[in-house]
Amino acid sequence: MKYVSTRGNAPELSFADAMLTGLARDGGLYVPAEIPQMSAEDIRALQGLSYEETAFRVMKPFVGDCFTDEELRGCIDRAYAGFGHTARAPLVQLAPNHFLLELFHGPTLAFKDFAMQLIGQLFQVELTKRGERVTIVGATSGDTGSAAIEAFKGLDAVDVFILYPHGRVSEVQRRQMTTPKESNVHALALDGDFDDCQARLKDMFNHFEFRDGVKLAGVNSINWARVLIQVVYYFTAAASLGAPDRKISFTVPTGNFGDIFAGFIAKQMGLPIDRLVIATNQNDILHRCMENAEYRKHGVTPSISPSMDIEVSSNFERALFWAHDKDGAAVAVLMDELKDKGGFAISDNAMSALSQHYDSGMADEATTSATITAAKAETGELLCPHSAIGVHVANQQLAKSSTTPMVTLATAHPAKFPAAVEEATGIHPSLPNRMADLYERSERVTQVPNDLTALETLIQERIAK
Ligand SMILES: *Cc1c(COP(=O)(O)O)cnc(C)c1O
Repeated sequence: MKYVSTRGNAPELSFADAMLTGLARDGGLYVPAEIPQMSAEDIRALQGLSYEETAFRVMKPFVGDCFTDEELRGCIDRAYAGFGHTARAPLVQLAPNHFLLELFHGPTLAFKDFAMQLIGQLFQVELTKRGERVTIVGATSGDTGSAAIEAFKGLDAVDVFILYPHGRVSEVQRRQMTTPKESNVHALALDGDFDDCQARLKDMFNHFEFRDGVKLAGVNSINWARVLIQVVYYFTAAASLGAPDRKISFTVPTGNFGDIFAGFIAKQMGLPIDRLVIATNQNDILHRCMENAEYRKHGVTPSISPSMDIEVSSNFERALFWAHDKDGAAVAVLMDELKDKGGFAISDNAMSALSQHYDSGMADEATTSATITAAKAETGELLCPHSAIGVHVANQQLAKSSTTPMVTLATAHPAKFPAAVEEATGIHPSLPNRMADLYERSERVTQVPNDLTALETLIQERIAK
């Protein structure tokens, strides 16, 4: 299995090399040159299997011979052993044809644990085989960073640096990043917003001297391995609800487009997905884009769903690559326009390709809060603000057509965003017992300027120690 860049101008890589590299050298994102197929029989055979076994069957064809069956199974088993639910990604029913896929039973209470826990194990096995060590730098709006620090802390083949926007992550998110004691993990609070964090990260990857000097690796949602790992729960959910003999739609609270793009890959593999519904908060660049065929930046306004306060939705580039019939040069032109002019128009052809798979909707702050209140009253479920945005947009979609089962991805545990949940319901969501002492642990963090050279110097000094 070979991986190619969405901008068509970087070397083809194996799964393991694409995983260790992150961003391609032409600035693009790695995608599989072709998508392995699962037949109806293959999908039917998933019904009733464990999450781990499904993960193995879905991922194996993409991994090729980079990992033996035993290595891959071992990584998967270790990755999910610490989850607080044996189903790993349980489904809960909200309404006659509406289901919630709970993706928040991992160690940092957000869906990003699925990919991060497994990528940590895969990195460790691969780097040990190679006798190498790497420096992971990540940008986070909150949940990626905590998931990465949790997954990589104490692994001896990596140092991890996480950039988060100072003052713009929730207290639980921040504490999950700043309280681990292991000396190979470093939380950096950057003076800027999430897009600044992501921009500096991209700058480091495009600065080849630094990149090669520190053996830079990325685990942001641009990393292909993360997208692939997230494909798995589309299969477990759909198989539970009757796939391949029944179509299923998914609504996905979306920021960087990684989670929903995993759904697109599942569909390309043969899973009978009807609609993939993009749900955004007030930072609705993706929703506007689907409505107006134009992707244009307006500036980010902080919201009660901070993990979706994003304007440069990195993985959307992968969707554009498919919408342009895998023409990397065409994608490169759009991405240059985004950088130079703050936006780009989408052609009619590309727009109709996107509309074949995706719908969209948004929830403003008041609607998000009202949805948390209503869900509690009607179903007893406590939703985090991100999940509530998904539920609202899914309800809009169900009002148009309710014959296809709708699965909304619940991306974080309510206790990760207690203020918004308490405001909407009067209930203070409590942390699961296994992390109940989070507020008492001492914090370790370095505040950093929004400046490339300063960041690179700090990283070089820390890894030299
Ligand atoms: C990261 C995140 C999202 C957005 O996911 P993308 O893959 O970036 O679209 C939504 N909700 C929560 C809680 C998150 O942590």
